[in-house]
Amino acid sequence: MTTPLDRLKAEVCALHAELLRWGLVAWTSGNVSGRLPGSELMVIKPSGLSYDELTPEQMIVCDLDGKVVEGELSPSSDTAAHAYVYRNRPDVGGVVHTHSPYATAWSAVGEPIPCAITAMGDEFGDDIPVGPFALIGDDSIGQGIVATLDGHRSPAVLMRQHGVFTIGKNAKAAVKAAVMCEDVARTVHLARQLGPVSRLPQQDIDRLYDRYQNVYGQAPAAPAQASAAPAPAQAPVTVGSEGEPA
Ligand SMILES: [Zn+2]
Repeated sequence: MTTPLDRLKAEVCALHAELLRWGLVAWTSGNVSGRLPGSELMVIKPSGLSYDELTPEQMIVCDLDGKVVEGELSPSSDTAAHAYVYRNRPDVGGVVHTHSPYATAWSAVGEPIPCAITAMGDEFGDDIPVGPFALIGDDSIGQGIVATLDGHRSPAVLMRQHGVFTIGKNAKAAVKAAVMCEDVARTVHLARQLGPVSRLPQQDIDRLYDRYQNVYGQAPAAPAQASAAPAPAQAPVTVGSEGEPA
């Protein structure tokens, strides 16, 4: 029988392939973790293994102090940062770290990515902020992530002269944020080559963010036994399709 922990290991393992698929990582430089809902446990990638040899069984289970609870291998060297985020943000169920090139370039110059296109208003609801420079080894990176994202709409932070950390309600949402962060980092960079870039007016950012977070996408599937019933008049109106805001 598969347990919730088994399913989380399989999910976290599979999501590492998405980092490769979307061009966010070179060699073994990124990692995904997920919190086991309702527990003090997280699942994270083992350190130094290439993405195409990862298996669910190799995933490391840690407590929220980053101590290994289950697994043969050493956990990712970024485990302390992930664990700090889970300890301090009970709402977070997934964390991703990458050195994706465009976003990391913005981090290298220490400049937030301005919220200059509607896709950023949708997904980030603000500029993507820059967090402090911090070296690996203790809680400094985790503290910088939490301090920067606290009260911020953006699920992504550019840790100065390092790379991207993203958070989400689960591991998949954090991976999506990492993909979108790199996408907008690239687009806004390209725009800069063509001319000055201006931030969207705040009221438009607010409207975009509100609509995307609350209305956009497919309504949850109706229970099977109710599928033949007419939709209630107050059913939320949904528009567009995944990945194509309309
Ligand atoms: Zn890193």
